[in-house]
Amino acid sequence: MPAIRNVVIIGSGPAGLTAAIYTARANLEPLLLEGEPSSTSDQPGGQLMLTTEVENFPGFPEGVMGPDLMGRFREQAVRFGAEARLEKVTRVDLSERPFRIWIGDPDATQPAYLAASVIVSTGAQSLMLNLPRENQLIGHGVSTCATCDGFFFRGHTIAVVGGGDSAIEEATFLTKFADKVTLIHRRDELRASKIMQDRAFANEKIELRWNSEVVEISGDTKLEGITVRDTVTGEVSDLDVTGLFVAIGHRPNTDLFKGQLDLEDSGYLITGRGEQVTATNIAGVFACGDVQDHTYRQAITAAGSGCSAAIDAERWLEANGHA
Ligand code: NAP
Repeated sequence: MPAIRNVVIIGSGPAGLTAAIYTARANLEPLLLEGEPSSTSDQPGGQLMLTTEVENFPGFPEGVMGPDLMGRFREQAVRFGAEARLEKVTRVDLSERPFRIWIGDPDATQPAYLAASVIVSTGAQSLMLNLPRENQLIGHGVSTCATCDGFFFRGHTIAVVGGGDSAIEEATFLTKFADKVTLIHRRDELRASKIMQDRAFANEKIELRWNSEVVEISGDTKLEGITVRDTVTGEVSDLDVTGLFVAIGHRPNTDLFKGQLDLEDSGYLITGRGEQVTATNIAGVFACGDVQDHTYRQAITAAGSGCSAAIDAERWLEANGHA
């Protein structure tokens, strides 16, 4: 059997990396399982790896590129003794302590790692339209975060896709910068709450495009326009926009934990069990970042909750005679 690690952190966005910095500085020698490189946000560094300029992360008055920021977090964690591995967890067994973690074959009899405590920071993924060029143009006109990128669209004409609270919130926020925002929704009725709907209807800069779906994204190095199809008439038209915000929901990366950790109906991990804000329903297992937060979803809030998870884990280990 492998040796028991004090803390294994699963997932390495701002939350996991911050948890690694703090647990490393507490001499807990954390193991950070970062996942494997991929072209989606499910990769070491998480959603920030698909972001270009980040201008709202405190401490970087000139802005910083998302991947650079994650690189700096990682360097800081490793400097204090965190062990970071590019390995993807395929199975966990949290039913007894030490917790068991598999890499590779999930049916292997022996787990790859044993952990006295686990910090889950597997993040969430924005749902995408799955159109050609969509991923390639993220950060170059296509975005999934108005709070992060809205500022770059001052004076632009942009489109937002979706009909839920997020889409309305993003569209409304974007009217602070853009000259015009077209909200494209696939049905003739919004899913968003009434109060949000009223806000959108009252905003002169927002134009609603009902029963419509984006069928094509144009541009090679930056977004140059989109093609929209009317789902009732079948009519296809080009929309001259320089920004496209996809706000059709998020999916937390919680498949590994189903049946073990308590999840909301929407799939997000439930934290705040007991006195510790990052505690889950299993003592010794903590969660931080977007995997348990569908409200704020910012790099800085994820990093903050990573710090909380590290302190919660440290105190729990101490109280349980591990560290
Ligand atoms: P959501 O409520 O699931 O809405 C997703 C929207 O995207 C729906 O209108 C859906 O259309 C549309 N959609 C889904 N897949 C699509 C696709 N492939 N192509 C085109 N459109 C697609 O997600 P959300 O807006 O992110 O909200 C998630 C949760 O957070 C909700 O509970 C919401 O109330 C909450 N939230 C609250 C606030 C707030 O109160 N300030 C702000 C943001 C989010 P259909 O309607 O046709 O299914």
